[in-house]
Amino acid sequence: MTYAFPPAWIPSLPIRGASDEFPVRRVYCVGRNYAEHAVEMGHDPDKEPPFFFQKNPDNLVLGAEFPYPSATKDVHHEIELVVALSRGGTDIPVDAGLDHVFGYAVGLDMTRRDLQAGAKKLGRPWEIAKAFEKSAPITEIVPATAIGHPASGAITLSVNGELRQAGDLSQMIWKTAEIIAHLSGLFELAPGDLIMTGTPAGVGPVARGDRLEGSVEGVGRLAVAVV
Ligand code: MN
Repeated sequence: MTYAFPPAWIPSLPIRGASDEFPVRRVYCVGRNYAEHAVEMGHDPDKEPPFFFQKNPDNLVLGAEFPYPSATKDVHHEIELVVALSRGGTDIPVDAGLDHVFGYAVGLDMTRRDLQAGAKKLGRPWEIAKAFEKSAPITEIVPATAIGHPASGAITLSVNGELRQAGDLSQMIWKTAEIIAHLSGLFELAPGDLIMTGTPAGVGPVARGDRLEGSVEGVGRLAVAVV
């Protein structure tokens, strides 16, 4: 078989301690997974079923630089723990969820907040707010064989050295295994899928020239310049 034109490349991420790359299939994101962030966005923090949206795999960018995107005046940082799957399936039980995890990374769910607010108001989808070019700066993937499955530990983001977001993974309303269970009831998961697990309170705007530094204890650090 030949293609009418060259196919797009397969997005992939380095894996700590390995020469092979992690080929990315889909990027799922969890909304409002930390109570204080739900409150700051004007929602009830009670435990409702998780909801999901997606970014495009080719929106991932390995650290370094985040180009300020078009069509917005209010781009926000959201620091998140990212789960990388090595196994897929449907209707995965919670107690088997972590068996599907290859490893973890630190990611930013960069968001055009003004476009998201407009979409929410009109009941429209979120892609223009969430799934734009280079909207997902991310680190290498750290295998669970090296670090286990982090369920607690600080998750932070500083802008120009000033702490903006500070939370703990233990504050996640829906835990990693529960997220996998829910998501696999909605989609057929597969090796190569990433899940961004939501952000703690303290989201806010970035400007060109800002230096963002994110970290998840036990997983890694992500340094990004807004250009
Ligand atoms: Mn997010």
